[in-house]
Amino acid sequence: MTRSPHVIVVGGGIGGLAAALGLLRQGQRVTLLEQVASLGEVGAGLSITPNAGKALDFLGLGDVISRIGSTPPAGQIRHFQTGATLVNLPQDQSREKYGKPLYHVHRADLHAALADAVAALDSRCLHTGCEVRHIDSRPDGVRVTLADGSSIDADWLVGADGIHSRVRAELMGADRPNFTGYVAWRGLIPGEIVDPALLDPPLCMTVGPRRMLMRYPLRRGAVVNFVAIARRSDFETHTLRLLALTPVDRLFKWGLFDRDPLPSWTRGRATLLGDAAHAMPPFTGQGAVMALEDAAILGRAAAATTDIDELLRRYEAARLPRVTAALAMSRARAELYFADDPMQQVRALGAGMAELRTLYDYDAATVPV
Ligand SMILES: Cc1cc2nc3c(=O)[nH]c(=O)nc-3n(C[C@H](O)[C@H](O)[C@H](O)COP(=O)(O)OP(=O)(O)OC[C@H]3O[C@@H](n4cnc5c(N)ncnc54)[C@H](O)[C@@H]3O)c2cc1C
Repeated sequence: MTRSPHVIVVGGGIGGLAAALGLLRQGQRVTLLEQVASLGEVGAGLSITPNAGKALDFLGLGDVISRIGSTPPAGQIRHFQTGATLVNLPQDQSREKYGKPLYHVHRADLHAALADAVAALDSRCLHTGCEVRHIDSRPDGVRVTLADGSSIDADWLVGADGIHSRVRAELMGADRPNFTGYVAWRGLIPGEIVDPALLDPPLCMTVGPRRMLMRYPLRRGAVVNFVAIARRSDFETHTLRLLALTPVDRLFKWGLFDRDPLPSWTRGRATLLGDAAHAMPPFTGQGAVMALEDAAILGRAAAATTDIDELLRRYEAARLPRVTAALAMSRARAELYFADDPMQQVRALGAGMAELRTLYDYDAATVPV
């Protein structure tokens, strides 16, 4: 009897857990190495656009996302100083147009659902407190060395260790993430402490010169999520009152970075996935989405062939052009969305949404692999 291949997945974020799930479902033996001591409730809101919903269906989590996600209500775009309504946003029509709704989900809820699904298939797959320091990728296998000096051998490896990926540096040589010039504040406000007048309408985007704030409900309104991207913080009073309600431990400030696209993700028997392969700025909300698509395609490549080199070729050929285009789209949005004139921003947002929707048709369960 031939033994099933043993794969090491480095990183237990959305991408790494989804990759582990896709590969376990194809009968691979998976060792998932995550540096943090225990997985916790971290992050704020994520958009799960229809293309991500299709990837989650393929991974067996279609029902879960409809339970933990919220479909966006109708909303408005408002002026950052006057609060005047610039445009009304209709209810999202993704279900009718693309066959799957668009969901907003707390990153921690999706992360926990993926971790539960992985544990249900193999309770010994996930190893926390394991920081990967060194990768030796040979033509016939990989050896991983951890921070404690121990090492693990496997047939192949997936580096899903995020934007500051150690695996990427080991395989491709060190490069630095690019600072986009923007800073994001993400916050979660308990719904019960927010005056309903501040949430009318429940979904609202506030735009001004080189700044914007987007807020929407999560967990059926139990939490108000916002992300503000700006250089300075002179918003109108409703927005400032809402921000002031954020508990200090629920406010996260992030510099926004991306990485230049790579011509290839694979060296020997090791490849990259998610932000490690293609970190993009969040202006199209496709970071987690692309990681989920990657994971579904990796699972399909494993189903298509038992030859690991062939599997890696199929995965990269199916994914690299798609994510390179998504990265370029996301970078171009920054220039347009953060114009000096709010009405110019509104027009750019409309055109940008139309372009973004061209990504929604992709079905990771059926595209050629
Ligand atoms: C804590 C956290 C909170 C986030 N919150 C949001 C949010 O609110 N909204 C949003 O849009 N995006 C958020 N993101 C980013 C978003 O999740 C990612 O852009 C997207 O999901 C792609 O995920 P990924 O799995 O490729 O990378 P990541 O989500 O960054 O996961 C990488 C994982 O690899 C682990 N890791 C890193 N280096 C090593 C190593 N050497 N050895 C072992 N493990 C390693 C990290 O601890 C992490 O768990 C967050 C990311 C993180 C890590």
